[in-house]
Amino acid sequence: MKLADEIFRRTDWRKTSDFGMRKDPFTGQPADHRGTDYGTGGAAWPQHALEDGVVLAAGASGDTRGNYVAVSYPRLGVKLLHYHLDAVKVKKGQAVVKGTVLGTTGTTGRSTGVHAHIGVQRADGSYLNPHEYDYQPPVREALPLESAKSAGKPACPAKVKPATAQQKACTGTPRPAAPKPPAGPFGVGDKVRIKRTGIPYFPGIVNIPARVGELMHTVDSEPQGKGGKRCVRLREINTWCDVDNLEKVQG
Ligand SMILES: [Zn+2]
Repeated sequence: MKLADEIFRRTDWRKTSDFGMRKDPFTGQPADHRGTDYGTGGAAWPQHALEDGVVLAAGASGDTRGNYVAVSYPRLGVKLLHYHLDAVKVKKGQAVVKGTVLGTTGTTGRSTGVHAHIGVQRADGSYLNPHEYDYQPPVREALPLESAKSAGKPACPAKVKPATAQQKACTGTPRPAAPKPPAGPFGVGDKVRIKRTGIPYFPGIVNIPARVGELMHTVDSEPQGKGGKRCVRLREINTWCDVDNLEKVQG
């Protein structure tokens, strides 16, 4: 999912400046742009929180960033930076949920027009390209079958026609499942537990909830190298790189 769609909760934004090296609009010199700029047609659009998170900073920066908001998203392991805001609508330390209005797009600080500067920063301080960040919302538990059924409606009559040859072929012997790739010490489908809790995502902020240690998670993909580390994807909480901090749960 496009990050900008989630932040603005609309799709008619316009990308006005890319992430990475660019000519600085003020000095004309090459400069590293640690975010993506989005034009909002000159209007003060609300910018929204992606999901459960904590406001790390909010207010007037007094510098190039203008009025700004920084939000930590524990599940994603990143913080999002919103610069040049018109109005700021949250306070430092505030918990946010999907859709919380953080502030409105403006042109405060070092800005040449109404736009949103969106930055995505990892815990190690490095920046990701917001425009290429593929946001995956949290997986929700499927509804129990009983509540999915609509009450009071008659059941569909059973099909009495004999199955066609093609249908028979479709319901024949299922194809053997592809072998599961190994995930280092874990395999896909393994239940694992996070051994330690209280891991700081960002300096000074310990915001992994204690409940994480109590939960079991399911290994959902083969290991991937990320930043020189071996990472696995855990179904409920996304990518996890500290594999030494995981233990397999029997059963
Ligand atoms: Zn920018």
